[in-house]
Amino acid sequence: MGEHVSIDHGHIRIDTACWVARRVGDEHAGLTDALGHWGRAQLLDGYPGRDWMTRAELWCMAREYAVCEGFPTYHDRPWLSADVSILLAVVDNRHAIAIVSVDGDAPTVYADLTTDVGYWYDAGTVQIVCPNEHRWTWRDGELLTDDEAVDPATVFDHHPKRRHDQEHADSDTDLDDIDLDADGRIFCPRCDELCDLRLPEVPRFPQPRQGRPAARPPRPPTDRTRKMYRGEPRHRP
Ligand SMILES: [Zn+2]
Repeated sequence: MGEHVSIDHGHIRIDTACWVARRVGDEHAGLTDALGHWGRAQLLDGYPGRDWMTRAELWCMAREYAVCEGFPTYHDRPWLSADVSILLAVVDNRHAIAIVSVDGDAPTVYADLTTDVGYWYDAGTVQIVCPNEHRWTWRDGELLTDDEAVDPATVFDHHPKRRHDQEHADSDTDLDDIDLDADGRIFCPRCDELCDLRLPEVPRFPQPRQGRPAARPPRPPTDRTRKMYRGEPRHRP
């Protein structure tokens, strides 16, 4: 089982911290501190109702940081270990930053290394891979094999009792049924080997060297990325 993804009571669980780490470089500790101080001062100034992402947006405006269109975005999917909201911005037309708040807490500011901001919209893709490279993609609760959707129940309803019932029925079992055992391990239906669950790799720019940040203007997600992830911006209400 991958360290980033686990099975919890028969359900996929993605570690939110690892999901964020896939997309960012080093923390900009100075910016995190500055935003924290600014945001807490807002509280004292009589705006206790403003959540951290709203405060982060105002902070960016006050500093003339360009906020990326379509952000902030917010993921509260049941398979995430924690809710997460993200605001992307560009500092001085040069430094792409990601302001990340987990469970509504004070945000952390990181270098945003994604090659396409669309990757921030995907909070629900897991690769299921066996040692013999048989692969499936689990995406937002749907299971895909070779881009063809298969019934997710064939994976996650495989309670041992149900399997027992099926094995003793005259039904011919679908070749692509994936077996989940009582310990939350997934076995490949084609070769019976234990499968690994992984978060997909996110294409990244190299980590900029200290003092030499990568120059990158803000860009909207491409159609290709939108299609790939079928993700739509989810705004905090
Ligand atoms: Zn296999």
